[in-house]
Order: sequence, then C-alpha cells, then structure tokens
Amino acid sequence: VQALVAMLMFFFLLHILQTDTAERSELDRDLRAAVRERQFVLHYQPQLNGANRVIGAEVLIRWLHPQRGLLAPGEFIDHAEHTGLIIPIGHWVLEQTAEQLHQWQDEPLYRDIDLAVNISQKQFSQNSFVAEIAGLIERHRIDAQRLELELTETLIVHDMEDLTRKMTALVERGVRFSLDDFGTGFSSLSHLKRLPLSKLKIDRSFICDVLSDANSEAIVRSVIALGQSMGMTVIAEGVETEAQRHFLASNGCNQFQGYLLGRPMPLADFRAFVQRHNG
Ligand code: C2E
Ligand code: MG
Ligand code: MG
Ligand code: MG
Repeated sequence: VQALVAMLMFFFLLHILQTDTAERSELDRDLRAAVRERQFVLHYQPQLNGANRVIGAEVLIRWLHPQRGLLAPGEFIDHAEHTGLIIPIGHWVLEQTAEQLHQWQDEPLYRDIDLAVNISQKQFSQNSFVAEIAGLIERHRIDAQRLELELTETLIVHDMEDLTRKMTALVERGVRFSLDDFGTGFSSLSHLKRLPLSKLKIDRSFICDVLSDANSEAIVRSVIALGQSMGMTVIAEGVETEAQRHFLASNGCNQFQGYLLGRPMPLADFRAFVQRHNG
C-alpha cells in the first residue's frame, strides 16, 4: 500500500509540475507576443493633496490580452521581471509617460500634473538606466520635475553605491524619486537618509487597518513624522475610507491615493477627473 501511495503521489506531483510549466510557457509565449504587438495600456490613478486637488497620477500598466481581456500587473509583471521582458515593457511605459507629459505642457489644466512610474529592479540596475531617462527627457522635451520614479526597498538592499550614484545623477537633472510600499521592506534608516528621495509612499497594508490595529497606527504616525523631519512628502496609498483619510490628514500626511479618491482609470476618464477637481 505504501508503494502505491508513493507512486500516486509521484504522478500527482508530476502532473502539477507539467501543468505549471505548460501554463508558464503559455504565459511566456503570450507575453512575448504582447511586447511585439504592444498589447498594453496605461491607467492613471489620481493622487490628491489635502485641499482635494489632483497633483499627479501613478501610471499603472495593464495588458489587453486578446483572449483573456484586461489583465492587472499581478498576472504578468513577475514573469516579465524573471525573463527580462520587463526591459522592453518598462521602456514602453516610460516612452508613453514622457509623451503624455509632453502633450500636457500646452494644456494649462494638466501642465502641473506629475506622473509617477514604477521602476523595477532589473530596469534600474541596467548600466544604461541614467542615459535612458536623460534621453527620454531630452527627446520628449519635458520638464523633468513632472517625472517621478517609484523605487522599492528591495533596490536599496541590493547595491547602495550604484543606487546612490544613479539617483544623484538623475536628481541633478530634475527627476524626483519616491520610495514605494514603504514599511514592507528592510531598508535601514541610515540608508534612507543617504538617498535623494522626495517622497515616501506608505504601503497599503498599513493604511487598511490603521484604524483597527494599534501597531499599524503607530507605524503610520511614525512614518509621517519621519518623512516630514527628513523634508520629504508623505503619501498614503490604498486609502479606501473617509475615516482613513481623516486620520491621515490630521496626522500630517500630505497626499492621498486610493479607491476612495479614484481607481486607476483610462486616460480619458483621468482627464475628466482632473477637470472635475481642478477645473
Ligand atoms: P504599486 O506600485 O504599489 O501600485 C499600487 C497598487 O495598488 C495598484 O495595483 C493599484 O491599483 C492598487 N491600489 C491603489 N489604491 C488601492 C485601494 O484603495 N485599495 C486596493 N485594494 N488597491 C489599491 P495594480 O495596478 O494592480 O499594480 C500592482 C503592482 O504592479 C504595482 O504596485 C507595481 O508594483 C506593479 N506595476 C504596475 N505598473 C507597473 C509598471 O509599469 N512597471 C513595473 N515595473 N511595475 C508596475
Ligand atoms: Mg507604485
Ligand atoms: Mg505602492
Ligand atoms: Mg503597494
């Protein structure tokens, strides 16, 4: 009986492995086609200040899959990162964003809207990264101040020297950096103070239970105080209720992003959103 059970287990595991590989290779094939055929769209999630004005948006990629419909980054970004496909994808995101910023320069209502782009570890660690961003700013003739690059703490743990050098070079050109998902990684405060960051983004996981969990509340208060004392803007991500926003605002949080204010939306909807709030 034991031998039989062992054999069944073996075939069961083999089956799982095969389906997994098949699914992955299907994803791989589809994603390569998607890169070739540019099956991506960008959505914009509004970021508001304390006076309820739109000051910017986070640019979030979606994949318009020919069979499966609109896919969120959770379905493909990890795979893109592992295979290196994130390089052409990230390049496309940056080009689109720069083009958008360029178009808005002639429109008074949108001229002051900043766009924040998520930069992956692989993208940032390319030797050509600084040149790519510098070239982008020049070719699209955009105001570098409007472009914000979101990095995560995983990057900090990686290579402080390379990180500082690249960030400094881009900050000198006017680009701004924010630290995304702050609080979920392992960056030490001594590293944090050496980096030219303009903004801390408090991770959604702390915001969602800030009113029900004393530890989350303490963390959120501390992060706001920390950011402020280091001269950074603090933004909360994942704000879903008025009570959360109220708590954050009364504790000095500068900016808000989340479903309460607006979901990630297509460009046309974002324009209408800005018109409603800032028009
Ligand atoms: P992120 O950078 O932390 O982006 C915020 C995510 O939280 C977005 O998910 C957004 O839709 C979601 N979100 C915002 N407000 C709320 C809220 O109030 N409640 C809830 N439940 N969720 C909220 P999304 O668009 O699925 O993106 C997931 C992640 O994929 C992003 O996390 C980012 O790490 C990555 N990503 C998105 N676009 C790009 C890209 O162009 N390049 C790279 N490298 N990564 C990207
Ligand atoms: Mg982000
Ligand atoms: Mg985030
Ligand atoms: Mg997050």
